Amino acid sequence: MGVGLARQATPLFSVQNFQEPESTMFKVRYSYLAQQFADPEPIFAELKKLVLSGDFTLGKVVGEFERKFADLIGVKHAIGVGSGTDALKLPLRALEIGHGDEVITAANTFIATVGAIAETGARPVLVDCDDSFCIDVAQVEAAITPRTKAIMPVQLTGEVTNMTELMKIAEKHGLPVVEDACQGILSEYDGKRSGTWGSAAGFSLHPLKNLNVWGDGGVVVTNDDAIDARLRLIRNHGMKNRDEISILGHNSRLDSVQAVVGNWLIGETHDITNKRIANGAYYDAGLGKISGIRLPPRRPNVKRVFHLYMVFAKDRDALYQYCLDRGVEAKVHYPIPLYQQEGLRPLGYPPGHFPVTDRHAALVISFPVDQHITRAQQDYVIEVVSDFYSKK
Ligand SMILES: *Cc1c(COP(=O)(O)O)cnc(C)c1O
Repeated sequence: MGVGLARQATPLFSVQNFQEPESTMFKVRYSYLAQQFADPEPIFAELKKLVLSGDFTLGKVVGEFERKFADLIGVKHAIGVGSGTDALKLPLRALEIGHGDEVITAANTFIATVGAIAETGARPVLVDCDDSFCIDVAQVEAAITPRTKAIMPVQLTGEVTNMTELMKIAEKHGLPVVEDACQGILSEYDGKRSGTWGSAAGFSLHPLKNLNVWGDGGVVVTNDDAIDARLRLIRNHGMKNRDEISILGHNSRLDSVQAVVGNWLIGETHDITNKRIANGAYYDAGLGKISGIRLPPRRPNVKRVFHLYMVFAKDRDALYQYCLDRGVEAKVHYPIPLYQQEGLRPLGYPPGHFPVTDRHAALVISFPVDQHITRAQQDYVIEVVSDFYSKK
């Protein structure tokens, strides 16, 4: 080995990686989807009703899901859209953000955040993260220019940005906040839920997210009636009714088939979250004692929902390989910082521009923390990591 992840020909950061079926090679697999949907019969029964009703676009099941989702988060409105990416892009469009504008977001985010901003025509302006994996709020103000039109904090890994401070900065500068809460369903900062802070927030229902469906789907939430009304137009071609178009919109509706799956699962979201939190605490107790592992700060005013269980590891590349060899399907989110990706070169950030993001790319490792992992599997992960460092 000895080859850094960032230099491998087929990086982990690939499309295939997101679609791998459950692997039998691993004692501790990463994907739990086959377990989660092991008995699809009740969903098939609901899908049969949908098919027989012919109610395929924005019908009853989508409305039901939107109501349940709004109640779950504790907001007035939830609008189902085509993906988590669109759940970030469409609220920016509803706020009339586009060409010539700038939107501030975290340098260490997943590509979709930056992609959503760029799709509106606005320029993504990146700010480094801190060890919470969220935007370093102390650096946000320096990134604000006369062109800044919104701030998009990212609740990455299920951690939460210091929203109390960020909202103060946003209010001082009169800037709307649109949260990227795709990884943060039911997370909280200072007792307030992600998705309820700003003008709007986007959630993803992608198969890899904590509340997931069988393909793409997303939800925008807002307490603002005007934004809700605009979003309902924008996601459906800007059509006021069959014959009248009031604004140029998109085709980005939450698919009815996915709404059926969502309706089946949404009642379990609190259970899923609580299991992930318990699993995270169990790892903290076991892995936190190992000298080569450093846990991120566990701020007591944050309810983190462990979309990912991500820690800092000495000799990360070697540990990662050791885990794979011993049957633990660890992951690295992500080995190449976004701003150093070829596709983002036009943004013009030179290597080294975001030192914390760079440091994280070299140190982070993620272990499976989903609601289906067993304590025996977690014990095995802890044992393998412990063995790795005791041999050094
Ligand atoms: C998954 C994700 C998105 C986008 O979600 P899709 O549903 O895949 O479009 C956006 N931001 C973050 C941080 C995500 O993890």
